[in-house]
Amino acid sequence: MSVHLDAPVTPAPLPVLGTEVCAPLADGTEIPYAALDYAASAPALRRVWEDVAAYLPYYGSVHRGAGHLSRLSTDLFEESRRTVAAFLGCRPDDRVVFTRSTTDSLNLLATSLPEGCEVFVFETEHHAALLPWQRTASVTYLDAPRSPVAAVATLDAALAARDTARPALVCVTGASNVTGELWPVPELAAAAHRHGARIVLDAAQLVPHLPVDVAALDVDWVAFSGHKLYAPFGAGVLAGRADWLREAAPYLAGGGATRRVARTADGGVETDWNTDDSRHEAGSPNVVGAYAIASACRALAEAGFENLAAREQLLLGRLVSGLAELPRVRVLSLFGEGAHRVGVVSFVVEGYDSSAFAAALSDRYGIGVRDGLFCAHPLVRLLTGAAAGEGAGCGEGPLNAVRVSFGAGTPEEHIER
Ligand code: PLP
Repeated sequence: MSVHLDAPVTPAPLPVLGTEVCAPLADGTEIPYAALDYAASAPALRRVWEDVAAYLPYYGSVHRGAGHLSRLSTDLFEESRRTVAAFLGCRPDDRVVFTRSTTDSLNLLATSLPEGCEVFVFETEHHAALLPWQRTASVTYLDAPRSPVAAVATLDAALAARDTARPALVCVTGASNVTGELWPVPELAAAAHRHGARIVLDAAQLVPHLPVDVAALDVDWVAFSGHKLYAPFGAGVLAGRADWLREAAPYLAGGGATRRVARTADGGVETDWNTDDSRHEAGSPNVVGAYAIASACRALAEAGFENLAAREQLLLGRLVSGLAELPRVRVLSLFGEGAHRVGVVSFVVEGYDSSAFAAALSDRYGIGVRDGLFCAHPLVRLLTGAAAGEGAGCGEGPLNAVRVSFGAGTPEEHIER
């Protein structure tokens, strides 16, 4: 098998920031940095940077001022909400709430569950999708399925056995942050709805790679982070059904989420909370973050997801076949042969500690990857063959893996390197 791609991968990568950065090598020289940790945080699109830079001189407080810049910022904030809704294919009545991240979005939903709600979640999820429900609901953890078909069957059986008098929520990932493998979202959504449950899609690793259409997938909510979608600045999104969000207590108590606050005769304070999107956005909102996300949505839509995805698949094929040529490298997979994945590939190298291996990739080749348990401890333990209960936090012991992840800004040379 040839070492290099036979033909250049088209179209060209989308321009991203950070391509000028040089990494110091252990021998004292420098090399252009190969950012292959997109799944943790993707570099910002140059277009996002330009949009944000053009907006910065104009920003003002949102929903709080009568002045020109406050009005402008309020308009841009609300327009960003509409852009995100269109990008996600939301239904007309859906809400788009700006949060800090996927973690924040899923925690918001966890605090918005109706009384007595049961949550169903696979043990394979990222901790952001695995853990928030423990605080507010009774949770059923589903064993790792070894195929997409088994995932649907497992969920179907678990939901069939549930008490249908209680509300229920299923939380699933669209693409795994460990294996990059795609989960059968429409089938899982159909199973959830067949049994009267709702479903939230953790799209943190899906939105940067493939179009997500909330209505077509028929998911009730979707959560993602701006910093994985080529838009930094600490903003995320929870989009979907309005009812649970409208009826839940506001996520944060404070200004901006209230219609009326007044002293009561008995010396207290009573509050009427907003029922629209702002109910869960107390405090001055992150208008720059929301605008950056909207800019990324526009840029990706204009570039054409089909083109980006086709290019990514070529790079992915090269990466996987290249790794297969290397002795002692084992690529991690939950679903096995034939599974579809996005540009996220984890592996272990027999006889090497993954942390040392990742450090060597940096020191010798200027390649930035992630090593560890990727905040998905049960899944990584399962796939690296370790018994549950061994090892502990991210970055410890031989249970770790190395993760290479890339996207729309990745040049071929990084993959070849
Ligand atoms: N879900 C998945 C699948 C992820 O990969 C991540 C982050 O890596 C998260 C949720 C949490 O995202 P954030 O750290 O931006 O909240």
